Amino acid sequence: MTKTAAVIGAGPAGLMAAEVLSAGGMAVTVYDRMPSVGRKFLMAGRGGLNLTHSERPDIFFTRYGPAAPHLRPMLQAFPPLALTEWANTLGAQTFTGSSGRIFPKAMKASPLLRAWLARLNRQKVQFRLRHEWRGWSGDALGFHTPAGDVTDTPDVTVLALGGASWPRLGANGGWTTLLQDKGVAITPLRPANMGFNVAWSELFRTRFAGQPLKNVALRFGGHIARGDAMITRYGLEGGAVYALSAVLRDALATGGTITLDLDLRPDLSQQQIASRLSRPQGKDSLANFLRKAVGLSPLESNLLRETGAAPDRLKSIPLTVTGAQPLARAISTAGGVSFDALDDTLQLKGVSDTYAIGEMLDWEAPTGGYLLQACFSTAVFAARAILSRIAS
Ligand SMILES: Cc1cc2nc3c(=O)[nH]c(=O)nc-3n(C[C@H](O)[C@H](O)[C@H](O)COP(=O)(O)OP(=O)(O)OC[C@H]3O[C@@H](n4cnc5c(N)ncnc54)[C@H](O)[C@@H]3O)c2cc1C
Repeated sequence: MTKTAAVIGAGPAGLMAAEVLSAGGMAVTVYDRMPSVGRKFLMAGRGGLNLTHSERPDIFFTRYGPAAPHLRPMLQAFPPLALTEWANTLGAQTFTGSSGRIFPKAMKASPLLRAWLARLNRQKVQFRLRHEWRGWSGDALGFHTPAGDVTDTPDVTVLALGGASWPRLGANGGWTTLLQDKGVAITPLRPANMGFNVAWSELFRTRFAGQPLKNVALRFGGHIARGDAMITRYGLEGGAVYALSAVLRDALATGGTITLDLDLRPDLSQQQIASRLSRPQGKDSLANFLRKAVGLSPLESNLLRETGAAPDRLKSIPLTVTGAQPLARAISTAGGVSFDALDDTLQLKGVSDTYAIGEMLDWEAPTGGYLLQACFSTAVFAARAILSRIAS
C-alpha cells in the first residue's frame, strides 16, 4: 500500500518536503490557504533570491545563534552545496556574489519555481489550494475551503506553515494556537530582520528617506555589523541593521530607548580622519570641505547635522532608536515551535506522525541566504527521516 503524506504549507520548506517524499514513493498532497503557492518565495525573488551563503561551515552555523546546535545535523544533511546543486537541476544556475552570498543567475524565483512545480507535477504531487488548515477533528486534519470544510487522514503530516511576517503572503502564525491546544511548546513569535525607529526631523525624513548609507558599520553592545543601511521615513532598515536586529530587539524589549553607534567610515582610522580634517577649509563651505576631505555625501553631511555630531565624530554617530518595526513588516520571524517539542527527526513529540519544518521552528538568522537554507535543510532532513521510518 502506498503511504500518504499531507504537507501543509506550500512555501519552500513544504515544497521541498513534498519533492523528497514523493520521490521516495509516497503519495503526497500539498495544502495551502492561499490561491497560489510560494508567495513569500516569489517575494524573496524580488530582492534577487539569496538562496544560501558560501562561507565556511563553522562560521555558517554560528549565524543561527542559540539554535545552531539543533540545526547543525540538518544543515549538514543538506548543506549549501547540495542546495546549489539542487537549484542547478531545476535549470537555475547560481553564482556567488562578492559578499559570498549565492543567488540564481536569473536573480528571481519565478523560473525556478516554475521548473520545480513541473517536477512536482511529474512526481504526481497533488495540490489543494484555498485550503486553510484549522486543526484536527479527532484524528483527521480539518480544512476550511470556499466550498466547505473537508478532512484528510494521511499516514504522515508535515507542517510547513511559515512564520508570521508579511501575513498577506500567506503565513500568518494562525497555527500557534492550534498547536498550543495540543500541548506543543511555542516560543512567542517576534520580528526578525526588521527596521528600527529613529525620530528623524521632518526635513531630514522628507529629503533622505529611500537613500542608502553605503558600507557603514553599526555597533551595539559589543556587536558590530558592516553593510548598507537605508534611511526610511520611520528610521533605518537594510542589511547592516538586520544583522543586529536580534540584539537590538531584545535590548528594546527591556523598555526605553537604545543608542546605536554608527560609523560612516569603518575603513578609515580616527587618526586618518583627524589628519584629513586638519587641512585648511579655505573658502569651501563646510559641506564641500567634508566632501573633499572625507568624501561625505549630502546625506552623510546632513546626518551629522541631524544628530548634532561634530565632523570628527563621523566614526561614532549616536543614533537614538525608539522602537522596532512590527512582525508584520519584518523579513522573518523569530520564535516558533520549540525544539524541546520535537524529537531529533523534527517529529512533534505530542502529536503522532506529525512533523514541523521551515520558518515555523524556533530559530532565527540574519539575511544572507541563511533563512532559505534552513527552510530547505529542515525539509529534506525531516522528509528523509519519514522515508526511512516507513521503510523500516
Ligand atoms: C521580502 C522578503 C524577502 C526575503 N528574501 C529572502 C532571501 O533573499 N533569502 C532568504 O534566505 N530568505 C529570504 N526571505 C525569507 C524566506 O522567504 C522565508 O524564510 C521562507 O519563505 C520561509 O519558508 P517556509 O516554507 O518555512 O514558509 P513560507 O514561505 O512562509 O510558507 C508557508 C506557507 O504556509 C501557508 N499556510 C500558513 N498557514 C496555513 C494554514 N493554516 N493552512 C494552510 N496553509 C497555511 C502559507 O500560505 C504559506 O504558503 C525573505 C522574506 C521576505 C518577506
